[in-house]
Amino acid sequence: MAKVESFTLDHTKVKAPYVRLITEETGKKGDVISNYDLRLVQPNTNAIPTGGLHTIEHLLAGLLRDRLDGVIDCSPFGCRTGFHLITWGEHSTTEVAKALKSSLEAIANDIEWKDVQGTDKYSCGNYRDHSLFSAKEWSKEILSQGISDKPFERHVI
Ligand SMILES: [Zn+2]
Repeated sequence: MAKVESFTLDHTKVKAPYVRLITEETGKKGDVISNYDLRLVQPNTNAIPTGGLHTIEHLLAGLLRDRLDGVIDCSPFGCRTGFHLITWGEHSTTEVAKALKSSLEAIANDIEWKDVQGTDKYSCGNYRDHSLFSAKEWSKEILSQGISDKPFERHVI
């Protein structure tokens, strides 16, 4: 089976919350795609409950696109400790961390339920499992710890 970089990361050595570049890949026509690890909580210590994680997912989909060029997708890890962010082109982890921080600040302070996209049975695969309350509380918790642009040392932006 193909060896996957994410599973070679020593999850006991990282210091969340952080942004980490996983890979930059160049396609046959020269286009570059970047994949980032947006680690919001410490692996094997914490995990964001599904309702809050799901609402953060729906919100980051719009908020990150407003703050960063070339966003393709931002999807939660199955372990519920963070998200993959995939973008066209190259961005520094500092730039991504700033966009993430600003997005979480918006969730914590500005977003109301009417602002959350995709919360009915037509636009979401599990619309009953959302919690804006949880999304806000976890965003505040993550922001209180600060977001590092390095995974193994705390270098808070
Ligand atoms: Zn959904």
